[in-house]
Amino acid sequence: MKLNQKGLLIIISGPSGVGKSTVRKALFSLPNHHLVYSISMTTRPPRDNEVEGVDYYFVSHEEFLGRIKEDKFLEYANFVGNYYGTPKDMVDNNLEKGNEVILEIEVDGAQQVMQKKRDAVSIFLVPPSKKALIERLQTRKTDSKEVMEARLEKANREFSLAHKYDYIVVNDDVKNAADRIMAIIRAEHARTARSIYKYKKLLEDVI
Ligand code: 5GP
Repeated sequence: MKLNQKGLLIIISGPSGVGKSTVRKALFSLPNHHLVYSISMTTRPPRDNEVEGVDYYFVSHEEFLGRIKEDKFLEYANFVGNYYGTPKDMVDNNLEKGNEVILEIEVDGAQQVMQKKRDAVSIFLVPPSKKALIERLQTRKTDSKEVMEARLEKANREFSLAHKYDYIVVNDDVKNAADRIMAIIRAEHARTARSIYKYKKLLEDVI
């Protein structure tokens, strides 16, 4: 397979409540990397601790639908009644510059990205057990009981799509999960199809 010689596109996906954003933040706190986080756009109202332009771009339904029409998203999905989408320009600009772009998205959007960007690296984050996932969703006080139940129901379908991903990482411990993801990113860089062009001259020279 011919792979993109520009930046790496990394999809981190998995059921709601698995701890994607906590693991992603731990990943960004590791030293020596050039990761850029793709801030998504959503119609979901902000939670108390969330900051506009840091956690999400919070927009109205009308604005989101307008952007779909203008083809501004790399992918988008409706998740438990709200839209979530990845702004296309930001991703493409960063990949062009050679940066590694991290998408933290749910499974339907992840499928769309896998179709459009064949050399994206996809990682499915799983909880250590279903019980752990249920407990996490229940202790997230920001969601109503209905929302929590809808997210749990959705988690079953999300689990059934795990086999479509390149890697599965268990979130048994946040730091361990972040370390494993960093190891995957480093290994992907060394993949022959991604790196051979850098060593072409060396490999062609007869010693
Ligand atoms: P939450 O409401 O908990 O922040 O997010 C709900 C789900 O939507 C999570 O699984 C989260 O990863 C996912 N999500 C966040 N941003 C995006 C996005 O841009 N696209 C898609 N498809 N899913 C997203």
